[in-house]
Amino acid sequence: MFEEWALRFLGVGNSHAVELGSSAAVLERGGRPTLLIDCGPDTLDRYRSHYGGSLPQAVFITHTHLDHIGGLENLFYRAWFDAERRGQIQLFVPVRLVEVLQRRVADYPGLLAEDGVNFWDCFRLTPISEGFWLGGRWFSVFPVRHHQFHSCYGIALEGLFLYTGDTRPIPEVINRFAARGEWIFHDCALNANPSHTGAEELTTNYGEDQIRRMTLYHYESALAGSALRGRGYRVAAAGERIILCHSDPCSSQDKDDALSA
Ligand SMILES: [Zn+2]
Repeated sequence: MFEEWALRFLGVGNSHAVELGSSAAVLERGGRPTLLIDCGPDTLDRYRSHYGGSLPQAVFITHTHLDHIGGLENLFYRAWFDAERRGQIQLFVPVRLVEVLQRRVADYPGLLAEDGVNFWDCFRLTPISEGFWLGGRWFSVFPVRHHQFHSCYGIALEGLFLYTGDTRPIPEVINRFAARGEWIFHDCALNANPSHTGAEELTTNYGEDQIRRMTLYHYESALAGSALRGRGYRVAAAGERIILCHSDPCSSQDKDDALSA
């Protein structure tokens, strides 16, 4: 059976760019949402508007800044009062982030007015060291460079895509996890800062072939997005759906066709 793979960006902004949405994306397989990457304050509403009011079945968390996890409490409430989803949503969390997530979101004892419910009662937590299985595929997970050592993680599906999460340039990671012509979705604003990549750093850190495969997200404004496009980069827009590969298994020709489209 042939299945199309696609990535839909729900939001593409940095923490200041509210109008662009919190950076988050949905991996689709065969037209169905398979994995939500990050869940910021506005992510669920955007997800539901694209997917008929449904809730995600599986969520991967890149890191614990609130523009990436601020929607988890909302997800708790929606799932808790949905008999089909309660206790069924799989949360994939890098193991070093579990304690932070516990402190930032899950510790609150009064989630329900009538008490008696823990945050985790609503989810299936899968702690991650180096990756996880989903739908028969192995997703690699690796640390990137965001503030602190091991504070943020990227995700990749070999042969298909790599999504950096919030990061400074990571050429050594890209060389390791996107060495087979994968699409590369990279944090990049117009201007660099101590936590994020800036446009001027792309050419000094990456080769032409890697830049050709990149789509930039997590930028500071619509104007900055236009300026990045003006410099010749592919830049994701909020709501945009990018076809990664028209069939599964994905041939390199098929992926090249999708990349050049
Ligand atoms: Zn961040």
